[in-house]
Order: sequence, then structure tokens, then C-alpha cells
Amino acid sequence: MSDHSNHSKVLLQECFCWDCESCGYRNIAFWIARELSSKHIERLRRKGKRIGQSYWFVESPQRVQCASCEAEFDCLPFVAE
Ligand SMILES: [Zn+2]
Repeated sequence: MSDHSNHSKVLLQECFCWDCESCGYRNIAFWIARELSSKHIERLRRKGKRIGQSYWFVESPQRVQCASCEAEFDCLPFVAE
């Protein structure tokens, strides 16, 4: 194996990939982080969930746009396999 110690490093991030139906370009889409409103947090607490002052969750995008041809698509719900 060659010595890669002089190479700088990058941080890999989790994301989705999808193929454009119009031009075939392989795109990537990132998770979207959302902060729950205080109202929503209160509702969860009433249901017995133990959560802090702020709470973040991530979700897949609902709509994406191709980076190559700019066509837009609605996303099917993400289901982890
Ligand atoms: Zn495209």
C-alpha cells in the first residue's frame, strides 16, 4: 500500500444518492436537520418522552433538483433496509 500520510483528509457525510429520470445524472441529497418547536417538545413530554430543552431530528428531503439539468422531483419516502 502506498503512503498517503501527506494527503489531507476529508470528513465523509451520510447522504442519499439518486439518479435523475431526465438525464441520468447521479445526484446526492443530504439529510435535513430540523429543530422541534417548544410546543412539539412539550407534547412529547406529556406522552412520557424524556427529552431536553432542544431536540433535533433528521429527515430525508421531500423534493430534490438535479444538479445537471435542474429537473425537480418529489421523493418517495425513505425506508431503511
Ligand atoms: Zn438531470
